[in-house]
Parts: sequence; structure tokens; C-alpha cells
Amino acid sequence: MRHVVAIQVAMKEEGLGLAQKLGLSEREALDPDFGFRWFRGEFGNHLNLSLVLQGTDPRWEVEQIGLEAAAVCTTLIIQQIKPELLMNFGTAGGFESRGWSIGEACVISEPIVFHDRRVSIPGYQESQLGAYPVADTSRLRQTLGLRAATVSSGSSLEMSDRDHEMLVSQNADVKEMECAAIAWVAHRKRVPFLALKSVTDLVDHPEPAAAQFLKNLALASHVIQDRVIDALKYLDEHLDDPIWSRS
Ligand code: SAH
Repeated sequence: MRHVVAIQVAMKEEGLGLAQKLGLSEREALDPDFGFRWFRGEFGNHLNLSLVLQGTDPRWEVEQIGLEAAAVCTTLIIQQIKPELLMNFGTAGGFESRGWSIGEACVISEPIVFHDRRVSIPGYQESQLGAYPVADTSRLRQTLGLRAATVSSGSSLEMSDRDHEMLVSQNADVKEMECAAIAWVAHRKRVPFLALKSVTDLVDHPEPAAAQFLKNLALASHVIQDRVIDALKYLDEHLDDPIWSRS
């Protein structure tokens, strides 16, 4: 019996290349009203692989990035594909002050938080931070020589001063716009979750994030796709790894 692994990716620029490299074939959309694109195939000796892109917004003709599309997409993936392991990969902004550079890849090793949900009421304040668990990737990281990172998610590519303060207090290495929402759904549905990111832009750098992002998107996507292939090979060969354990 093959093990079912699903991979969720926000943008086609990040994920489509992997579907092509792995020879996955496109199926019907997970739900035509949302346009989440579903590719499927086999990987190695033991994996049944699905890759789902968050799709394109028909009104603005741009990719459906962000937390809301991410959460709905994860919910449909878990209901319809029933993965034993869920993976998210994509790009993120990295902190140069914490030693990150453009194109560098990482595996998320700490509970995943939000940085821009501000509700100053006891209980709500903590709940808005999230802090959803990730699978135990220590052996994977060691074997592949991948750097561990803390990620924090929010709804903006931009970073306000308050966001910056929060990110620093969270010891965030990278920031992006989907991971915490995906981790929330995976956690509630008890599906082990792992996330790999690569750096498209340095958030504490004078050049605006948007310009850096567009310049480095192709490079960072290429890097992360190759690391995801390495991770899939590892998973295919290590079916007893703690990564597969439900929390
Ligand atoms: N402006 C881009 C749109 C994508 S923006 C364009 O024109 O193509 C950000 C996307 O990349 C999100 O999916 C997010 O997860 C990721 N990302 C990369 N760098 C980021 C950063 N510095 N802050 C937030 N998200 C970032």
C-alpha cells in the first residue's frame, strides 16, 4: 500500500515546475468554484503524491495567495485526498540579521505563529498567535543538511513597524503568507505537517520586498523544488521516521 502525501503550494510560479519535474498529471480541480489545481502521480516505491496549487483569482488574474485561500484549500485537501502527511513549500522573506540570504532553503522546526493578528484581550491575544505544531523533522534536516527555521505568517508582503516588532519578539527567521493557516487546519485534523521555504527577499534590507521578490522568485522556487524532491526521496526511504507520527 502506498502512503498518501499531499503538497500545498500558493503560487503556480512556485509549484508548477515541480509537478512538471515529477511528471504529475492534472486532475479535475478540488472544487471548481475555488479553482484549486490538483496534480497527481506516484513517487518512488511507496508514495502516492498529490500537489495542489491555490489557483488563480479569476477577477484579478493573479495567484490566490494568503491565509484565507490557504485554509480553505487545506480543508479540501484533507477531506478529499486524505493525506497521511501534508507538506507546504514556497517562498518567504528572510531576516538578514539572523543570517539568511537570497535563495537559501529551510525546514520549519518550531510551532507556526501569526504576527499581525492583534487583539488585546486576555485569551484572545494568545489564541491569535496560533503556535501550531509541525512534524518532527530533526532526522530529515540532519540527513539533508537543511537549516532549521522559525516562520511567522501574516496577511501582507509589506512589513509595518509593529509587524517588525512582533517578528523580532517571535525570533522569526522567515515571514510569509500561508503557513500558519495550513498548520492550523492540519493540526485540527491531526495530519502531520511539514513546511519547507526558500528566501526570495530580505525583509530587513533597504530594497523593497516586492522588487526583491519578483527578481528572485524563479531562483528561489527552483531551489526549493529540488529540496522538496530530496525530502520526498527521504520520506519514500524512511517510512518509520517520526515525521509520519500524528501529534
Ligand atoms: N507581489 C507578488 C505576489 C506574491 S507576494 C507578485 O507580484 O507575484 C508573496 C507570496 O510569497 C506569498 O504567497 C508569501 O507566502 C510569499 N512571500 C515571499 N516573501 C514574502 C515576504 N517578505 N512577506 C510575506 N510573504 C512573502
